[in-house]
Amino acid sequence: MALQAPEGTKDLLPEEAKFWTHFKAVATDVFGRYGYEPIETPVFEQTDLFVRGIGEATDVVSKEMFTAISGENLKKLREGGTVKAKSRLSLRPEGTAGVVRAVVQHDLVPQGAAPVKLVYAGPMFRAERPQKGRQRQFNQVGIECLGAEEPSVDAEGIIMLMRFFATIGIPVESTALLVNSMGCDACRPAYRDAVKAYMDAHADELCDECKRRAEINPLRAFDCKNPACAAVMEHAPKITDHLCDDCRDHYDAVKTYLSGAGLSYVEDPKLVRGLDYYTRTVFEVQVTEGMGSQNAIGGGGRYDKLAEEVGGRPTPGFGFALGYERCVLALEAAGCEFPATQACDFFVACVDDSVRAEAFSIMQAFRDAGLTGDMDHQGRSLKSQFKLAGKMGAALVAVLGPDELDRGTVTIRNMRAHREREVEIAALKNFLSCFGGEPYGAPIPNIDDVFGQLEVE
Ligand code: AMP
Repeated sequence: MALQAPEGTKDLLPEEAKFWTHFKAVATDVFGRYGYEPIETPVFEQTDLFVRGIGEATDVVSKEMFTAISGENLKKLREGGTVKAKSRLSLRPEGTAGVVRAVVQHDLVPQGAAPVKLVYAGPMFRAERPQKGRQRQFNQVGIECLGAEEPSVDAEGIIMLMRFFATIGIPVESTALLVNSMGCDACRPAYRDAVKAYMDAHADELCDECKRRAEINPLRAFDCKNPACAAVMEHAPKITDHLCDDCRDHYDAVKTYLSGAGLSYVEDPKLVRGLDYYTRTVFEVQVTEGMGSQNAIGGGGRYDKLAEEVGGRPTPGFGFALGYERCVLALEAAGCEFPATQACDFFVACVDDSVRAEAFSIMQAFRDAGLTGDMDHQGRSLKSQFKLAGKMGAALVAVLGPDELDRGTVTIRNMRAHREREVEIAALKNFLSCFGGEPYGAPIPNIDDVFGQLEVE
């Protein structure tokens, strides 16, 4: 059997790949208006970065990370040797840790500087059990803002994300925005102890995993999908009853900004999200219908300790990531139309092989002008070339035969108006040469102007 893509991965075939490109462009445009600039970091990092940043006890790090290892190091391990920490690598399960590492490494927020605002897009890798909306390689777009702890950053980020969803076509009324505060080093330890005490008191109702969580990371139990655990955790102490004054003020200010911007949100004190680095604001956007259990299309929060965890100076931060594949599912669930694919302007058809060289040169003239199209590359019959041009939706077909070539002409057919006219090749090339060219970005003729100029309207 022919080889297949690995389980949990998905090829983005041309239509989907074009939509991914469009999706990234819209995100970069919307986020760019808020001052976010692009950054690209490696798809693999030292495993330690994720262990220290995301937290060893999280599912993402303890179970779902893909390790990357060179052949040489694999051999060493098989022979009972060890590899240095810097050679222990993992594919990134999320984008924040790598971006924060880059910010620290390149000192992008020097003392006293304005916050740095960054946007990234690319694949993430998690060894999860694949299902609809849950893949092992998936694409995220995310932003990170480092260097400011004001609640306005959190609110602006959430507002910007909701604006992006609306711009890409996900109806706001089909989403729910959940918000919570995770507290800080001052108030969370006491809260964690309260949750642990509560879990200990209900230990016989919890699954084995949650019993283990109670010991190492009790707040993770809020994410447990086991219905019995969910029922127990429903009545667990609420973080919002344990916030210190500073965290409460910060949380209140975020909510005031959101309300002021006209956004409705639901406070969910059980929202803890799967990663350890969050402090204060956390939020998630869910699609309310048609997505099943994998309905979170984006989420994030504040991480004021992360820069220190990865070895930098204290630098507050806020960020979010949204899942591309889940957004596509949300768009499909909402019955949204995907943008039409790029129009095809021209097709150059050859009557026989003797005219191929000149046909190629005419095609180049169209392309140099910036128009979109092609010619036959398989020696097809004229009839089948017309069929192909029709399938491609070409607005114009330039037909070249030996007689025309002798006369220095080519027949231009307007496929929409069903009109055609023989024009001089030199005149056509001369007209087209006024457009496009170097550098890219010069004006491109409208196909109707081409017909007008050549009088085949
Ligand atoms: P997280 O980093 O877990 O907060 O994820 C951010 C967003 O990425 C989620 O809201 C999802 O939309 C998406 N996402 C996370 N994990 C997966 C996955 N395994 N497959 C597809 N999308 C995912």
